[in-house]
Amino acid sequence: MRAAEFPEFRLGNVLATSFTATLTERCGDAVERIPTPGRLVDWLAVYGLAVDSCSPAQLAVARELRESIHAAATAAATGDAMPVSALQVVNDRSARGRAVAVLTPEGKRLWRLGSTSGVADALGVIAADAIDVISGERDGRLALCASPTCRAAFFDTSRSRTRRWCDMNTCGNREKKARFHANRQKTTDPAG
Ligand SMILES: [Zn+2]
Repeated sequence: MRAAEFPEFRLGNVLATSFTATLTERCGDAVERIPTPGRLVDWLAVYGLAVDSCSPAQLAVARELRESIHAAATAAATGDAMPVSALQVVNDRSARGRAVAVLTPEGKRLWRLGSTSGVADALGVIAADAIDVISGERDGRLALCASPTCRAAFFDTSRSRTRRWCDMNTCGNREKKARFHANRQKTTDPAG
């Protein structure tokens, strides 16, 4: 398959919740956006975590981390107890990562990943980011998308902290359209 045939990425500003958004519509018809190891490589490159290769086993580990972050973030957003198994996975991936942050002369941060441990190092960066977000170390609020088929955990950094959807262009837009059609039905339906 060519890249164009794969589901496109939902790219956000927060690494950890953008990673969990590689599976969308979890409560509806789920869409897997990293269906192959190659697509995980593509996704990591977008976030400055370029790796040379990825095996099917590493993809499975990545998805396990993704669902663990999703479970922990959901618990944090709803105020429920953290699922212990999910915490274990996140902490384990964080501990195994050996990525090094380096500062460029332009004042930018780069991640230096090991040549043989690339995927594990990249997952370590993502796990550490999830810990930052879920623990409240970063300025923002974890929330769940208002779309009943989505319920993605997202990180609201808006000033008012009242964001309702994981993504305005998809879930937000769909809800707006649904409301528009519902209203039109009401005004044009002669029986109603
Ligand atoms: Zn959503």
